[in-house]
Amino acid sequence: MGSTALRVRFAPSPTGYLHVGGARTALFNWLLARQSGGVFVLRIEDTDRTRHVAAAEQKILDDLRWLGLDWDEGPDAGGDCGPYFQSQRLDIYQRYVEQLLEEGNAYYALDTPEELEAMRADARKAKRASTYRRPDPLPTVKEGLAARDRGQPAVVRFLMPPGDVVVHDLVRGEVRVPQDEMEDFVILKSDGWPTYHLACVVDDAMMKVTLVCRGQDHLSNAPKHVALQQALGFQTPQYAHLPLIFNLDGSKMGKRDKHVAVHEAVARLIRDGKWTIDTVGEHARIDADGASRWFGDKKAGRKPEFQALDMDGLIRLAGHAGVVLPEIDVHDFRVSGYLPEALGNFLNLLGWSPGDDREHLSRDEAVAAFSIDRIVKSNAKFDRDKLLALNTHWCAGVSPGRLLEAFRDFTQTGGSALNALDDGTASRVLEACKGLRTFRDVENKAGALFVADAQLEYDAKAVRKVLAKNDGQGYAMLERLLPALDSLATWSPDAVEALLADVCEKYDVKLGDVAQPVRVAVTGRTISPAIGDTLMLLGKERTLTRIRNCLAAVA
Ligand code: GLU
Repeated sequence: MGSTALRVRFAPSPTGYLHVGGARTALFNWLLARQSGGVFVLRIEDTDRTRHVAAAEQKILDDLRWLGLDWDEGPDAGGDCGPYFQSQRLDIYQRYVEQLLEEGNAYYALDTPEELEAMRADARKAKRASTYRRPDPLPTVKEGLAARDRGQPAVVRFLMPPGDVVVHDLVRGEVRVPQDEMEDFVILKSDGWPTYHLACVVDDAMMKVTLVCRGQDHLSNAPKHVALQQALGFQTPQYAHLPLIFNLDGSKMGKRDKHVAVHEAVARLIRDGKWTIDTVGEHARIDADGASRWFGDKKAGRKPEFQALDMDGLIRLAGHAGVVLPEIDVHDFRVSGYLPEALGNFLNLLGWSPGDDREHLSRDEAVAAFSIDRIVKSNAKFDRDKLLALNTHWCAGVSPGRLLEAFRDFTQTGGSALNALDDGTASRVLEACKGLRTFRDVENKAGALFVADAQLEYDAKAVRKVLAKNDGQGYAMLERLLPALDSLATWSPDAVEALLADVCEKYDVKLGDVAQPVRVAVTGRTISPAIGDTLMLLGKERTLTRIRNCLAAVA
């Protein structure tokens, strides 16, 4: 990197939670900064007022922090190149627009929407990549301002200089874009706000960014940015575009996946006659028209319009349809009970590998091993099984203190019922759930232990299989066990297990024939921590109460 210190940036647009693709970009930039003693800048690109989502900035900052990615300059951190919100830098962009206009490198364009549509249609017909036709002669600045003052559409376009544009990309090599594929793009919108291109180029220069590392979806923007930099007399930073991330089936990972998952379930419910479109509207709390647009109509050839339902509505609908939404954003993985250590490790391997067989990388190991030249060009695959395996690995590997801390974050963020547990109990639960894959497993396995005894729900299938079968064999076992458990002098896992072993011997049955009836009686289900741990977590009194309640229910 020569003598200048590396300055990299992550520049999210606040349109929602932090997507895993964005998180991977942030991570790679962070690693580059940390391994070189460079600076990691966080810049919020909030110039698209139509896509702006309230509170999204805060969510993004929160998710970055959860992943352990801190920034040296940016919101909350300050720095010499602020403000770090683009919406607070409008006067800066305006100055550069004026400079470009004055120097003849930009012009006011006054095309109407109809004229622009006609140009697009022409380009489609001629199979041309570029669509915009530069006006001849160009409107003067005076004409542009007058049109704008009259309320006519007036944008400022960059005047693309002649010649091909070449981008040297550290991952993709030399990318050459022929002149006829480039067009005069908009830099200032008619509402006076800059476009992403202008704001990004100005800020990268003013924030002294030396390397731009971002998703490959921005590769096609790079030639525009290079041309703008040249016109503005800015230095071109180095570029590294990261491979895209796809689902295993080759589809793009995005919000759409969540809609598709719910749509499939709803279609089944409607087909089976259990739901109608009205049910969809009721559960999602949207009107009938919205519900019908969201669902579409295959026979009538009407495709689903997923934008008719916002995320909150979709979450409500998913709840009613019994669908667990696929995780897409960092926040989704957080509420599903993943460790940031595991998600970070997983993201680290999307498009990059250390070059040996190592799959498990701590953050420090990643800082030491990371290098741009091992970033691959081919698309990365988001393999959820691999992520689950990594999470299992990290859950088993972190210290009990760290596991507890992360579990606390999970119960708080996801609103888990286990949030009420004191630290001591939560630690015992985690210990009893060893081998867990995600914290959701802990909730599934141990959640029933912490509901009020009278509220315990019994899974009908478990009752049938374990208690009622063979003329109530399970119930009969509980009748025998109850007095024995009641008279146990010490309530310890060893004592409970010894008692169960004695019963097995006495009646010549397998441990499962004794332990499973107890498990179903005290948890309502066939899955819980080891029976000794389960009964210890419940305590003697509640164990006996639950067994008595269970027997009373069939009496
Ligand atoms: N705001 C852009 C995005 O969120 C960032 C583009 C860039 O890194 O230049 O995709």
